[in-house]
Amino acid sequence: MVLIDGKKVAADIRNELKEKISKAKSEVKNIPGLVAILVGDDPASKIYVSRKGKACEEIGMRTQTEIFPSSITEEELLSVIDQYNANSDYHGILVQLPLPKHIDETHVIERISPQKDVDGFHPVNVGNLVIGKDTFASCTPAGIQELLKRYEISTEGKHVVVVGRSNIVGKPIANIMLQKQKFANSVVTVCHSAASDLGYYTRQADILIAAIGRADFITADMVKDGVVVIDVGINRIDAPHLPKGYRIVGDVEFETVSKKASYITPVPGGVGPMTIAMLLSNTFKAFEAFNK
Ligand code: NAP
Repeated sequence: MVLIDGKKVAADIRNELKEKISKAKSEVKNIPGLVAILVGDDPASKIYVSRKGKACEEIGMRTQTEIFPSSITEEELLSVIDQYNANSDYHGILVQLPLPKHIDETHVIERISPQKDVDGFHPVNVGNLVIGKDTFASCTPAGIQELLKRYEISTEGKHVVVVGRSNIVGKPIANIMLQKQKFANSVVTVCHSAASDLGYYTRQADILIAAIGRADFITADMVKDGVVVIDVGINRIDAPHLPKGYRIVGDVEFETVSKKASYITPVPGGVGPMTIAMLLSNTFKAFEAFNK
């Protein structure tokens, strides 16, 4: 069994980007920029945004964080996005979700210029992904495909079973794996909570992608020998004996499933670190397109 080291792959990607940015600095006298917009004071969102800012700084990317109180109106937030759409120093715009209830997330996502939508949530980019055009793919799914690429895992004609159909993980990864492209071209099945016998589907998977949000939900009896397991889940479970009082586990019962798997991503340290790496990568791509 091969443990897929997302931490290492993400570090490799950051180093590659760092080199490219330093080259761009001397050649085109410009660097890519990413702005993160945060509304409210949700502690988890604050942590994510500060991690993203730090990651930008480490690779020499321009970074800015705009923080607004949750009382900001939708109009005001949209006008901030307009300003960054027009600001040529920033090639990527990220609005940290979720937003307060009085702000319509759809309006906000649709206001971001598709050329700066490095999260890949804008309907134009989602549409481009579905029809197989080059686009910004949502970062976590893009990170999953990158892991498959870097570990040279064969996907062509393989049965990929995705559990979960969210707009940020399940649907985009299913669409990515469906494309007639290298490290995709798979036969794809998507499962969700209405599946009456989930194991019937998951046991058929050559590559199983679990994006459910339920701790240790996929057990060894639900997979076949030799399966490639990509565990997207991040679940906090009580662990009173640990200093933090909790630990993070995936959607897959690692102990048992890893014994049957040919490749598996651990949680933490698998898919998780790839999301920010792909965000940086998408921002560099936006910068390159801007310079063309
Ligand atoms: P989500 O929006 O809650 O979607 C969960 C999906 O799982 C839904 O499609 C749901 O089906 C399906 N599901 C729930 N119970 C099920 C069951 N019993 N059988 C089959 N399907 C079931 O979650 P998400 O945003 O996609 O995230 C999924 C997990 O990935 C979470 O743990 C999240 O924290 C993690 N995540 C990690 C990263 C990262 O690593 N960077 C990024 C994003 C998310 P229905 O559609 O029918 O409700």
